[in-house]
Amino acid sequence: MKKKLIMSTRMPVYRDAGFELIDADTARQAFQSENDNEHRPENFIYSRYRNPTVVEAEEVLMKIEGSEWALLTQSGMSAIDTALSVFQKAGDKRPWLFFSEIYGGTISYIDSVLKNRRGINIRRFYPDAMSYDLNKFEKEIKDLRPSVVFFETISNPMLIVAPAREIVDLIHSYEARAIIDNTFATPYLLKPLEFEADIVIHSATKYLSGHGNLTAGAICGNDEQIMKKAIEYRKSVGHMISPDDAYRLNTQMQSFFLRFQRQCDNAQVIASELAVSELIEKVFYPGLEIHFTHSIAKEIFSKKGYGAIVTFSFAGKNADQKRQRRDVFIRALSNHIRLVPSLGDSNTILMPVESIWGDRYPDPGMIRLSLGIEDTDEILRKIKVSLAGI
Ligand code: PLP
Repeated sequence: MKKKLIMSTRMPVYRDAGFELIDADTARQAFQSENDNEHRPENFIYSRYRNPTVVEAEEVLMKIEGSEWALLTQSGMSAIDTALSVFQKAGDKRPWLFFSEIYGGTISYIDSVLKNRRGINIRRFYPDAMSYDLNKFEKEIKDLRPSVVFFETISNPMLIVAPAREIVDLIHSYEARAIIDNTFATPYLLKPLEFEADIVIHSATKYLSGHGNLTAGAICGNDEQIMKKAIEYRKSVGHMISPDDAYRLNTQMQSFFLRFQRQCDNAQVIASELAVSELIEKVFYPGLEIHFTHSIAKEIFSKKGYGAIVTFSFAGKNADQKRQRRDVFIRALSNHIRLVPSLGDSNTILMPVESIWGDRYPDPGMIRLSLGIEDTDEILRKIKVSLAGI
């Protein structure tokens, strides 16, 4: 009887550390062409360099991001390290400029690795009244002449939306490189490579994977030279994602657009509900007209959505009452919306801002909600019930 072949529709998980190269000539040729840092090499050599399962997932991400290149790493932080390190040159004294409103882990990395260990001259750019002043930014960049500028399209936890296109144009007019962390906006809302950002990074742990079950990072770009340097750096320091995680990320990215669209819709509904509650003092959500950067968000996200994070703060006659309301709310929701220090999962999760950020955001009544893909009415009902119990 003829043996039936099992035909998979997916690239399997290649868990090999090293790949067979058949003979000495093939090995020589493979190692020689490895110096070209091709994205999909003719011969795979070693999984820290490149792996077929990883390349397959990267090609899916290239379609999502609309980029010519995409590289996956073990975490968002390793993507940030790779993106920045590509532009580091021995002896170059030009400063690197970072927007102040960026992920806390990136701030720690800047201080402990870039400044204290690598001796890079780090400068910071601060928002005014919770939005970015382009004139002030131009003055800053003109005076400093940095070689690299790094910012997030939607900041955390106040959700300040950056006028990304104008910022990138200014960065380029002063001959610096623009690196954008687009984790919160995702390629659904904005594709910064369309207006020529040099590198876009993501914590793929968040919306791209979307289920809170893996950590991964992504570096996307269109410039061959830059991206080949990123491949070389990732290989040298071993920032490569594991083939198992790449396989799962690939599968989970198939539903990315659907998930994120629903998450944005849920966030808009919940933010609007919170905004009319007498128990809530402030709601920060770019989809609300009261948000400082609503008009920028409306323009740059083409009204597709405003992200899936809602930050809000309980009203209270003093800090104790605010804290108490926060705690009752968290307890009441604890079987449905859990306190998880992450975001972007398919189920709604929350974080008490002051417990995590401390003095940076000292309001004890503040909560950051990361909306999931649940039925909108169901989340709304749970939140209303919890508020009613306060
Ligand atoms: N960038 C942003 C905006 C983040 O929120 C995070 C993590 O929360 C990171 C980068 C780092 O990503 P990871 O935790 O995957 O290393």
